[in-house]
Amino acid sequence: MVKNNSRKRKPAKGMPLTGRLDPLVKFLNLNFHEARLETLDGALNMIVHRDLFGSEHSIRYLENLRIEIIDDLLLIAKPPGSRARKSERIEAAIKLDDGLRVLVKKLSEMKFRAVFKVLPGAKRVRLSNSEVFRLAVYDFPASKHRAKLWDSVPKSNPAHRLLNLSQRLIEWGEGQWIVTMDFDCGFPIYNPRADFYGIIAEGLMTGELANLRRCPLCGVFFLAHHRSRIFCCEEHVRKYHDAADATEFRAVKREASAISYNEVSTATPQPDVCLKKVAI
Ligand SMILES: [Zn+2]
Repeated sequence: MVKNNSRKRKPAKGMPLTGRLDPLVKFLNLNFHEARLETLDGALNMIVHRDLFGSEHSIRYLENLRIEIIDDLLLIAKPPGSRARKSERIEAAIKLDDGLRVLVKKLSEMKFRAVFKVLPGAKRVRLSNSEVFRLAVYDFPASKHRAKLWDSVPKSNPAHRLLNLSQRLIEWGEGQWIVTMDFDCGFPIYNPRADFYGIIAEGLMTGELANLRRCPLCGVFFLAHHRSRIFCCEEHVRKYHDAADATEFRAVKREASAISYNEVSTATPQPDVCLKKVAI
């Protein structure tokens, strides 16, 4: 079981961009048997409360769910490091391409329900609509205060950030709207599996899931700010490379001693030569 002791260490430079994947990451690191309601993250508690504080059977359900999710996300969470050769990085990308197709097929088979919403399409709007408000604070880090923005007038309508090739504006008479499609992961029956896979689906659509990592040294899951980061903290980068360098050094030393042994053995006269000499 992975123990969440990341708070004891200095965090990696530049932590998560947003809090949307946080409940998933916290779930992957959660110690089910030591979890306390007082210390549990609010969003995660909403998803797992019934099972986490239920029977042994329901905790086993969560454990199996975590195994399933880790199995689906491990390829993403363990990218090749900066020391990997280009051919290894290309090979890993080909493997992930296959993995993504399998994962997306699984998500499609979960049959989430499509939910349509009408958002105001005007250039400027008050942030008094919960959907528009959610878009206004979409990229906010979890630590940034957002409540003061409620009902204020932003420079531009945050819903306009959704507009692209397939998401257009409806302009009719004096009105403007944007009709969006979202999905409801609580359909037909709400359960943590649907909720976590809903977070995974959203993370794939926004691209943020690509930042999920599992530290090669301690096994903790985290969100990397930089794509190249694969360790949870600086200390673990050093420890891992020191250990790898030591192993490499031992291997080089072994190889060197094997070479010198071979040189000695080839320099040593072969038995038949010796015999000849003895015969002469
Ligand atoms: Zn670590």
